Amino acid sequence: MNPYIDDDLATLAEHARRFAAGRVAPGFLERDDTRVLDRTLMREMGEMGFIAPELAEEHGGQGMGCLAAGVIHEEIARADLSLSYINLLASLNGQILAEHGRPEVVRPWLHRLTRGEVLLAIALTEPRGGSDAANLRLRVERVGDAYVINGEKTSISAADQADAVVVFGRTGSVESAAHGVTALLVPADAPGLTRNRFDCHGQRAIGRGSLFFENVRVPLDHRLGDENKGFVQVMQGFDFSRALIGLQVLAVARVALEETWEYVAQREAFGKPLSAFQGVSHPLADFDTQVEAARLLCLQTLWLKDKGAPHTAEAAMCKWWAPKLAYDAIHQCLLMFGHGGYDRGPMEQRLRDVLGFQIGDGTAQIMKTIVARTRAGRSAVPA
Ligand SMILES: Cc1cc2nc3c(=O)[nH]c(=O)nc-3n(C[C@H](O)[C@H](O)[C@H](O)COP(=O)(O)OP(=O)(O)OC[C@H]3O[C@@H](n4cnc5c(N)ncnc54)[C@H](O)[C@@H]3O)c2cc1C
Repeated sequence: MNPYIDDDLATLAEHARRFAAGRVAPGFLERDDTRVLDRTLMREMGEMGFIAPELAEEHGGQGMGCLAAGVIHEEIARADLSLSYINLLASLNGQILAEHGRPEVVRPWLHRLTRGEVLLAIALTEPRGGSDAANLRLRVERVGDAYVINGEKTSISAADQADAVVVFGRTGSVESAAHGVTALLVPADAPGLTRNRFDCHGQRAIGRGSLFFENVRVPLDHRLGDENKGFVQVMQGFDFSRALIGLQVLAVARVALEETWEYVAQREAFGKPLSAFQGVSHPLADFDTQVEAARLLCLQTLWLKDKGAPHTAEAAMCKWWAPKLAYDAIHQCLLMFGHGGYDRGPMEQRLRDVLGFQIGDGTAQIMKTIVARTRAGRSAVPA
């Protein structure tokens, strides 16, 4: 029982859990080696209605609310965090396209997105840094009936697997900071756009890489939001993804804790089950408590979003707390398995997978600055 999950959402979650256990979990370890997202699975997820169900029907969704997206996201992440990027990127980019794109341009993309036919990436980070996100340099110039893009984005999830990318570039002067940034939808096959792939510590099936733009042209109608307002308008979508990321990593911690409780109840040392030793059971109880509490915060954030209430501080809290907590909890679980936990396998892969989110989508320091800004105003922002 959970105050944010009514019977309908519980049924939806159960449905997603059965699918994830039967179809997603079996390839979890293998995809870490092959480093390829399974497009067949992605289409199946689309057919089941599991991708961005919160989008309105006219945008290919089911108008279900963000909590519905959250409970599905948890179940896919529980089976494979990398694969649940399909949900995360679709919800984040889907909302941006639906709210800020020209209908005739974005609707075909949105319908294909929710059907699981295409994957969209989002490109903000540049080689000079990601935390000071508004201070970006990728050059976007208006030339006739097109925007022409030059420069580099880096550390972009799904860089080499995406079919299109939401790209933030500078249309104004460098001094204009956040007020000179424009967002564009760029098809991945646009001439002049090349990509590479990094060798990542975790999240290997989704992967990360760089995007290189050399005179890449996109039509003016591919702009998302107003010119020079891309940063201010479009970045609001990140409040949604931060709560989703919280649920995503906590789902991985929860399955790790479940397996560890089971293991310590049957594995014996000194003539007793490991769970009889409080040095074993209390750390697990500590993490179980904190994971439950953090999950409630994430669900509450989505509930606030569904109600149209402010949730920027809550989203930032989810994003700094949950990835660190999930990492620490899984680390503890791994240790409880003794030497077996150190072998290549689910526990060490989970640890590698969740670690990425202590950096991706903004670090803990930046999230705490956002919390501070909502509490103390502009005085809490670095000059
Ligand atoms: C798994 C993963 C997935 C990612 N996916 C994407 C993606 O899809 N799209 C995308 O655009 N980017 C993505 N990124 C990039 C990510 O958003 C950036 O790495 C992140 O914003 C930090 O930027 P940086 O790495 O350049 O670190 P820097 O900005 O160079 O910061 C380095 C360190 O300094 C700290 N720091 C910086 N400024 C301050 C300050 N004012 N106060 C205190 N500490 C500070 C940071 O917290 C960090 O610890 C991803 C990264 C990872 C690891």
